[in-house]
Amino acid sequence: MSKVWFVGAGPGDPDLITVKGRDLIARADAILFAGSLVSEAATRWAKVNCVIADSKGMTLEEIVVWLIAQAQAGKMVIRLQTGDPGLYGALIEMVQPLDVAGIDVGVVPGVSSAMASAAAGVESLTLPEVTQTVILTRIEGRTPMPEGESIEQLAAHHCTLCLFLSITLLKKVQQALLDAGWSPEAPVLVVHKASWPDEEKIIRGTISDIRDRCKQEKINSQAMIIASPTIGARHWPELKKSKLYDARFTHRFRRADKQV
Ligand code: SAH
Repeated sequence: MSKVWFVGAGPGDPDLITVKGRDLIARADAILFAGSLVSEAATRWAKVNCVIADSKGMTLEEIVVWLIAQAQAGKMVIRLQTGDPGLYGALIEMVQPLDVAGIDVGVVPGVSSAMASAAAGVESLTLPEVTQTVILTRIEGRTPMPEGESIEQLAAHHCTLCLFLSITLLKKVQQALLDAGWSPEAPVLVVHKASWPDEEKIIRGTISDIRDRCKQEKINSQAMIIASPTIGARHWPELKKSKLYDARFTHRFRRADKQV
């Protein structure tokens, strides 16, 4: 039976694809990739006779027609997507017509740009007694936000917010965070092209100045905004330590040291 694989290509660095994703690319007969972000991974690992196409100019319908035609021709087909296919990737819109056509589907997760951006900045998205929660979201643009999911409402949790697809609306982000009670001095991290060799840019600022800093650096696309009470923790003099490595704490793999 024919099968279409949705493979997460990772955030940009071709080495950040999973081993499973790379192995599938090496076996694929046809690959449809999503824009320039992931072309490198496709061309680097694919067979010489693999059909490789860019979906940049295609509508959803054209994408689906392409995938179905290749699969019905008995080819091993991959839809290569940026980051993880399950985040802002129109995955289900593509899977449903494949289901209707009786074509089997598999998904290989990828390193999301949210994770790559935190890694670029040597940041932890969670810290003991600071925040234990991460919200992956976006600001309202042309896609309306469901009720209860405005940035103001989500920011009221004062946890980590990773904002996709929002860099051109930084002004709105700033206002929403201030309205939710965040300090104008709260740190914000913006990472442009996280993990891209030679192209990654890391911009650090506060809620009040991050927009100007991004303007100075001409960042207006392909950027992740991370607003979090954990940003900059690497330089904090005092840190609440994780219980996992605490000598006084017993867990499955280690008994507490009674002397401590
Ligand atoms: N599925 C992808 C997200 C696709 S939506 C993932 O898991 O990362 C596209 C948005 O993702 C962009 O607007 C930007 O906010 C973010 N993005 C994608 N690649 C990025 C990168 N290398 N660096 C920073 N942000 C990135």
